[in-house]
Amino acid sequence: MNKKFVIATNNPHKVVEFKKILEPLGINCISLKEAGIVCDAEENGITFAENAKIKAQAVFDLCGLPSVADDSGICVDALNGAPGVFSARYGGEGYDDEGRMYLLLKNMEGEENRAAHFTSAICCVLNEQTTIEAEGYIFGTLTHEPRGTNGFGYDPIFLPDGYEITTAEMEGEQKNSISHRGNALRVFVEKLKEIKEC
Ligand code: IMP
Repeated sequence: MNKKFVIATNNPHKVVEFKKILEPLGINCISLKEAGIVCDAEENGITFAENAKIKAQAVFDLCGLPSVADDSGICVDALNGAPGVFSARYGGEGYDDEGRMYLLLKNMEGEENRAAHFTSAICCVLNEQTTIEAEGYIFGTLTHEPRGTNGFGYDPIFLPDGYEITTAEMEGEQKNSISHRGNALRVFVEKLKEIKEC
């Protein structure tokens, strides 16, 4: 596949994960920065898929290159799926990633049902006619305290089912092999391969 894909995100952690997952599968990626594009589309969709489409379409409209975006977040069963699509904005302004993670722990104080999952919706606007969508998930539980320094966001408090370490205690490769984003991107690549022009 000789096309270059622009990764439509301003999150440097996502850029690293996209490249590590997609490049071994033969997909060349460049970041917004490498493409010289400034884009901060308003994520006003009500689903992960809608927000991923908004971000990928905005970048495609600016550069005309195949553009791929992820919208993702953590959904907690005991909180009826919150923070969900609001994961990056949980608690409103004034919180950073670490603050949002502690806020989630605080809101889960005393709660025994700690089941949670991450969702990643991928949208790739390939050209004017073709859009590819994919979703991936990872299921697990919330810890009571943060553990580990790798990854980003809620990784230090997310224990995937079947593992005794959080995704922040995993090396990037291990996280990518089981993560919502890894799973969604692998589905995306399979769909992309079915498109002849690629
Ligand atoms: P957005 O997709 O840019 O709207 O933001 C997704 C938000 O969900 C991030 O800011 C994180 O808080 C959280 N999130 C998404 N994926 C991950 C992940 O792989 N690890 C930890 N947190 C994540």
